[in-house]
Amino acid sequence: MIKKFIRRILGAASKAGKGQTPVVLGPAQHGIDPANVTANAVRVTHTLQQAGFKAFIVGGAVRDLLLGIKPKDFDVATNATPEQVKRLFRRAFIIGRRFQIVHVMFGQDLIEVTTFRGSATDGAHKDEHGRVLRDNTFGSQQEDAVRRDFTINAMYYDPADQTVLDYHGGMQDMRNKTLRIIGIAEARFREDPVRLLRVVRFAAKLKFKIDPATREPMSVMAPLINNVPIARVFDEMMKLLMSGHALACLRQLRHEGLHHGLLPLLDVVLEQPLGEKFVTLALGNTDERIRQAKPVSPGFLFASLLWHQVLEKWQAYQAAGESPIAALHLAADEVLDDQVDKLALQRRIASDMRDIWAMQPRFERRVGKSPYKLLEHPRLRAGYDFMLLRCASGEIDEELGSWWTDFMDADGSGREALLNKKSEEETNGGAPKKRRRRGGRGRSTNAVPEGTE
Ligand code: ATP
Ligand code: MG
Repeated sequence: MIKKFIRRILGAASKAGKGQTPVVLGPAQHGIDPANVTANAVRVTHTLQQAGFKAFIVGGAVRDLLLGIKPKDFDVATNATPEQVKRLFRRAFIIGRRFQIVHVMFGQDLIEVTTFRGSATDGAHKDEHGRVLRDNTFGSQQEDAVRRDFTINAMYYDPADQTVLDYHGGMQDMRNKTLRIIGIAEARFREDPVRLLRVVRFAAKLKFKIDPATREPMSVMAPLINNVPIARVFDEMMKLLMSGHALACLRQLRHEGLHHGLLPLLDVVLEQPLGEKFVTLALGNTDERIRQAKPVSPGFLFASLLWHQVLEKWQAYQAAGESPIAALHLAADEVLDDQVDKLALQRRIASDMRDIWAMQPRFERRVGKSPYKLLEHPRLRAGYDFMLLRCASGEIDEELGSWWTDFMDADGSGREALLNKKSEEETNGGAPKKRRRRGGRGRSTNAVPEGTE
């Protein structure tokens, strides 16, 4: 109780940005291996320091370094203004969004340099819920530390003397695997509700527990996410889904009651056995690809998350008499109309999703020219991987997946043999009446040369 009170007082003091002196940790205390810091990050801090400025590695990079991991990217914080930073580097670009930052480029490598930010609490423009609309003031390093989100994200590493400056007990929280917001949780979530999603991402990714005072207001604050500009929510959702721990993140999102309004049907999906299996497999695949540094397509990801909504509507339209392909298009339209705005899905992503879904009934048509036409589809690989997930989740027969695997691997005559085998099976009575009719109508299946249309 007393501890909590003291923390509140300290939190309030730190919010005002007054008199915070950092704990200085030497190499023996923090254990960072300098070999994990890239030469370009050192070059940036060194150049700034040579010009008389302060410069530190900050944020996720420090977290990774403390965990003994080589960070994937480096952020640098400095007291130099963006203009001053830009002048010191040959390829540096000022990027102006909410707050101006500088991208310093070395070939493909990018170091993001941010000027210390001032505390957002005093006199900042806010909306009626307390969300800070403009916080583009520069500040001291102490103020910069106060306005960062979590204690473990508010540490500054200087590669020159190998010290870590710890303003809010981040080191202790790292050791205790605790995610703790800086200051008063409710106020910090009001200032920027995206922090709710960040809690979930870091807790799931780092396998840290959420400090009770940080966690307490989260579910009540959840609706505030709806007031955040949708593009920012989308960026944060993408970070979450591409974190290599998407499944853990979505589970945590649901656990914290934060998925409402973002993926409102996630609950429904995860509660049906087939849906849960499908999403679990899809996200497991994604996580594995990220860990192996393979590319992941956002279209595939969202197509997977929303598939069981599409499936339900697809079946309903078919039951109402639509053909499988027409029914699927109707179902896809309906789901996309509903979700594109909610999730801020860009048009390109929505069109990838539609392509992946629209291919699904076409995999079922294994007669005539159809399979050859499908082979030519520019997104065949994505559609095929998606279909394999449907097999693996138990939604459709595994036989369809293995037939297509064979068909895609086979040469011209192998493909003909597979098609003939299929049409024989169907003539012998295995297939539904409708499909047999279509097969029968098929102009001599084996006359179709590979790759036509
Ligand atoms: P990642 O490994 O995902 O890059 P990160 O902590 O570096 O994790 P970034 O989004 O790159 O996350 O942000 C860099 C740093 O900027 C954070 O560590 C944090 O100190 C600060 N920051 C980012 N977003 C916010 C926010 N919404 N509110 C407060 N501080 C933030
Ligand atoms: Mg980062």
